[in-house]
Order: sequence, then structure tokens, then C-alpha cells
Amino acid sequence: MKVLVINCGSSSLKYQFIQTENEAVITKGLIEKIGGDAEFTFCRKNGEKVKKNLSVKNHTEALKEVIANLGEKANGFINSLDEIEAIGHRVVHGGEEFYKSVLINDQVIASIEKFSELAPLHNPPNLQGILSCREVLPNTKQVAVFDTAFHHSMPEKSFMYALPYEYYEKYLVRRYGFHGTSHRYVALKTAEFLGKKIEECNLITCHLGNGSSITAIKNGKSIDTSMGFTPLEGIIMGTRCGSIDPAIIFFLMKKENLSAKQMDDVLNKKSGLLGISGISNDLREIDQALDQGNKRALLAKELLIRSIRKHIGAYMVELGRIDAIIFTAGIGENECSVREKSLSGLEEFGIKIDPQKNESLKGKPGDFSTPESKIKALVVPTNEELMIALETQWVLH
Ligand code: ADP
Repeated sequence: MKVLVINCGSSSLKYQFIQTENEAVITKGLIEKIGGDAEFTFCRKNGEKVKKNLSVKNHTEALKEVIANLGEKANGFINSLDEIEAIGHRVVHGGEEFYKSVLINDQVIASIEKFSELAPLHNPPNLQGILSCREVLPNTKQVAVFDTAFHHSMPEKSFMYALPYEYYEKYLVRRYGFHGTSHRYVALKTAEFLGKKIEECNLITCHLGNGSSITAIKNGKSIDTSMGFTPLEGIIMGTRCGSIDPAIIFFLMKKENLSAKQMDDVLNKKSGLLGISGISNDLREIDQALDQGNKRALLAKELLIRSIRKHIGAYMVELGRIDAIIFTAGIGENECSVREKSLSGLEEFGIKIDPQKNESLKGKPGDFSTPESKIKALVVPTNEELMIALETQWVLH
């Protein structure tokens, strides 16, 4: 099946056109700065990457550009709109309602809108993408794939906060978890690699990118994850602080005379690796500074590794038996030193890594544990777009 995968942000539309049978990307592209003078980056049939400027008022206009580009005479990828057999949308928040991907209808749209309150930055543009597709391709089936759905299996004791219970009842304040599409994808790939059924796998999946989360998977299902009510909770990230003592928030708001919005900005945009290092949210730049002896760069990396180890430790205890610990996303796939330091000294717990194998896995999949290690240590590159395309196909068949 040929699936158009759409991921809409507030001023962007990312797409991939995927042939699910051979998991091939037919083409992909991105429109940024929607709302005015936009930039459209796309690939031609010969693989050449092209960037063009154009005026795009809204997501519907952006989608029309994408469709026109797919069908372009000289360089197009489709001969008729029917060749777009389905559309798969990334939707960030599915609340408590969606535990799997679903065919989009009016009711689903109303629910996505309802959950905008829980993800005000993400769900509204995701929904806009869906409405634009309805307008431009009214006969094409659309599927919503939720970032939260995989974590729907978390038990109450994992998802509840020890706040007055009424806030859960009144406002659905609970942990939801995110990056579910990525955690699920790498879990499925790992099951394949181990030659086991996913239902037999106990895993710890570490999605370490600009945003990061770690998930405990028991018998193929998420039973705990580090992100919570929002993606702010958990391990430290590029610009997000991860878990901190909530009392700090009130203390700082008073001391610095910050509004709630300003405090939110501090926690989400000025903290994490950037906040500690004062250099960058990008670990590659922090590594460069570290090589020159920058102490805060070193501290930022140490904090990151400590928070990864704390979560791995907690989930090892929760899971008991573990088949593999998996590293994925920008940092997980490429930063050998983070992987090595996250799993070093754990021989007593059944993890023995091979540093040389680890070094050889830069952006490549593979096993970097020793043959005698009880728990495998794996690099599994994530592919959220492919997962969305496959989910779309599974929903429609
Ligand atoms: P996002 O959450 O934005 O999708 P990514 O998964 O692309 O983030 O991860 C970005 C992080 O991965 C950055 O901190 C970056 O430094 C780190 N990284 C390290 N090496 C690489 C690499 N070779 N390519 C991409 N990102 C890398």
C-alpha cells in the first residue's frame, strides 16, 4: 500500500510517501514557515534535494503544494490521486481514549480536538493536517497514529500521580507518556532480531534525541515510561529539565518575578543540556566543548548519563527479567560514549558490553553486548514514519 505520512507542526508540514510492502520511501519533504514566505524542501526522482521559496498561507495550501509536487509531470511520483491509497497522521495526544491507531471519522476528530487541552502545542496543528487532507483528498482514508497510544497499557500504579485524586477525575491529570510510536517500532524490530514473539519480550527502550524518554516493556507492552502528563518529565533533554523538585518552580517564580508562561519557557526551552552547559542543546556541540576541557559541558553530559542510568535501574527492578536494552534516536544511535557510560559497571546485573563493538555502531543497528551478557545491548535506529505507514495499513486491512 502507498501511504502518505503526514506530521504537522504549528508552522510546518513534514511528509513521507511510503510503499509499505517493501518499506521503501518513495519520496519525502518538508514545508516550513507556513503562514507567509515558506520554504519547501523536497526530493526529485533522481534523489536530488531541492529547496524552493513560495508563499503558503496555511496547512491546506501546504498540502496542495505537496500533492502537486507528488503529481508533477516531469518529476512526479504519482499519475493520479488514487495512487495515494491512504494517509497516516502523527497525532501527539490520544488522551485516555485511544489505545491504538484508528480510522479517522467525525468522532475521532472531536476527540483529538478535546485532547488539545492536554497538548495545546501539538494536537491543534495535527488536527489541522487532518482537516486539510479531508478538504484536498476527500475520498482518501485517513488514520490517526497517536504518540500516547503505546503507553495506554500502563497500569494505574504507573500512571497516577500522588496528587489529590479529584484532579485526575476532574482534569485527567495523570501520566500519559510520549514517543510511543518509536518505542513500539524499536520493540518490534528487537523482537524480530531476538527471534521471539513481541509478547515474550521484556525490554527497556531508550529513545534519546532532542526530546528523550525511556520505556519499560513487559511482554511486549509498555508498563512504565519516563515522560508524564507532558513531555517535560523524566530524563534531562536538549532544552527540557526532566524531573525536578516541583517546589523549585514556585521558588524561582517568586525570586525572578516570572509569569507562568515565562517559567514554562525556562523549564521547556532554557534547561536541560542547554541550561547546564550554557553552550547548546546539541550533544555534538557539547562534545566539542568537552574536548576543550569545558567543565559545564562535562557536567551536562554527566547529568544526562546519570538520569539515563537511574531510569534503566528503576525499570530493571520493575521488569525483573530483561531480554535487551535498546538505544535509539539521534543520541541513542550515534553517541557511543553515552551508550557505553549508561551501561558500564553493570556486569553484576547481567549486562556486559563490548566497547569496540559499541564504537563500530555509529548510526548503524547492532548488538554491542558480549556473547556471555545475559541482557543484550542493542542499537536499533527508529523510524516513526515507517511505523505510521505500517499502522495505517494494519488499520485498513
Ligand atoms: P529530535 O528529537 O529533534 O528528533 P534527534 O533524534 O535528531 O532529535 O536527536 C538529536 C540529538 O542527537 C542531538 O543532541 C544531537 O547532538 C545528537 N546526535 C549525535 N550525533 C548525531 C548524528 N550523527 N546525527 C544526528 N544527531 C546526532
